Amino acid sequence: MPSNVIGHLINGEQIQDTAHTQDVYNPSTGAVSKKVALAAKETVEKAIAAAQDAFPEWRDTSPLKRARIMFRFKELLEKNADKIAHLIGEEHGKIIHDARGELQRGIEVVEYACGAPELLKGEFTKNVGTNIDAWSDFQPLGVVAGITPFNFPTMVPLWMFPLAIVCGNTFVLKPSERDPSSTFYIAELLYEAGLPKGVLNVVNGGKEAVDTLLEDKRVQAISFVGSTPIAEYIYKTAAANGKRCQALGGAKNHAIVMPDADLDNVVSSLLGAAFGSSGERCMALSVAVTIGDEMGDKLVQELSKAMKTLKLGAYSEASNDFGPVITKQHQEKIIGHITSAEQQGAKIIVDGRHIKVSGYENGFFVGATLIDHVNAQMDSYKAEIFGPVLQVIRVETMEQAMKLINEHEYGNGTCIYTRDGEAARYFCDHIQVGMVGVNIPLPVPVAYHSFGGWKRSLFGDLHIYGPDGVRFYTRRKTVTQRWPSSGVREGSQFSMPTMN
Ligand code: NAD
Repeated sequence: MPSNVIGHLINGEQIQDTAHTQDVYNPSTGAVSKKVALAAKETVEKAIAAAQDAFPEWRDTSPLKRARIMFRFKELLEKNADKIAHLIGEEHGKIIHDARGELQRGIEVVEYACGAPELLKGEFTKNVGTNIDAWSDFQPLGVVAGITPFNFPTMVPLWMFPLAIVCGNTFVLKPSERDPSSTFYIAELLYEAGLPKGVLNVVNGGKEAVDTLLEDKRVQAISFVGSTPIAEYIYKTAAANGKRCQALGGAKNHAIVMPDADLDNVVSSLLGAAFGSSGERCMALSVAVTIGDEMGDKLVQELSKAMKTLKLGAYSEASNDFGPVITKQHQEKIIGHITSAEQQGAKIIVDGRHIKVSGYENGFFVGATLIDHVNAQMDSYKAEIFGPVLQVIRVETMEQAMKLINEHEYGNGTCIYTRDGEAARYFCDHIQVGMVGVNIPLPVPVAYHSFGGWKRSLFGDLHIYGPDGVRFYTRRKTVTQRWPSSGVREGSQFSMPTMN
């Protein structure tokens, strides 16, 4: 078996099933670096069976023992952070410092999962009636599955499996087939931390693997993160198969720039939020909505000046600001969006379509692009571009800006730049978006809150990780208990029991 084929991790063992494979690229060079196996239905079924077999013992393992494995896992992630960051960068293209940042945000969820004994304590009330006690217990679901996107190959899986596992579930993970190595490696580290066999299983693959997870009756719940059309498909299919599902989708995140905003702060933070990670973040700020033409002119002028200083290049060079996009097809798609904006009447202020990076001529690069005079009818505005492209829309009032955001199909993240507390408070209260920033461009909730958008950015009821994550991966059981002793026995009672 060629050593550069990424296989599967089932019951703690590496498994190769290489009838079907797909190329994995190094986007910085444009060359194929590895291959990934695409699991057949039978392979996914083996992973589900391993998780099913491991469940009874893991369910009865004390939360403290489960948490201790997570403490060791956190140490191993930190110890191996450089290696993980390189694996991320090599296949995703993000710069090494950005890859470290992604890993750190994932580790924070592991830290939250280390609190399992506290998180799973349940609720107890003594004497809900005379000599009657009641408690609610949060029990694991069984085998649960996670399906993850390319853009955060370690952070998004870490949003899912640590919490699901400390809650007593066993897990089957289907990572993105475009950058599978770092995900596979962190799963191996969890075994090194002492995880019993079968509690976490990784199957690489595409649609066949995903459909098997969606249809198999043994899988109780699905966490999904990816694009909106697939999220919607996952949610509907999981529900039709009787499963609990949270499916997080795509985004189009707007920043409102009020006339009183601190322009220097807006420019520097917009650069990172729009172009960091080549705009391949579901929380990337891709639209700036300026209030008043004066702010529009100033912002475009200052941004275009600042964009000249941006450094684009290979993932391994720490002084670069951002790297290539994930594939050649995606590069072409982003360039197509820029061209369509131009054809529909927008003005390209800074054009990243024809950029070449010296020494990396075959890399999948798109330069930072600034487009002015965009409007809500343009295709480039409606779509999630998922590239280093910032579009500017000019309106006259804050109400007009909020209307634009509220009418967009996505509602993942948004931000307002202002010095006016009253305006900011009104914005937070009335905007139809799940994660909101005030002078904070990427309001990604910390691990002990929960992450999720509104509208077509999330299908399902519960957000991911944090308190909602614990609720998603457990089900409530409420016990009401009396131990009869002489004198407290009750006879038959035909009316509804009450506390009289
Ligand atoms: P994607 O939807 O193409 O793929 C996500 C997962 O679904 C992958 O594991 C893939 O193998 C699987 N998949 C793809 N097509 C499928 C099909 N037809 N049937 C079944 N499974 C299928 O997403 P991507 O390109 O990997 O990631 C980028 C997208 O993810 C963007 O839209 C981004 O906004 C979104 N995203 C959202 C969040 C969030 O929290 N809302 C976070 C990260 C990324």
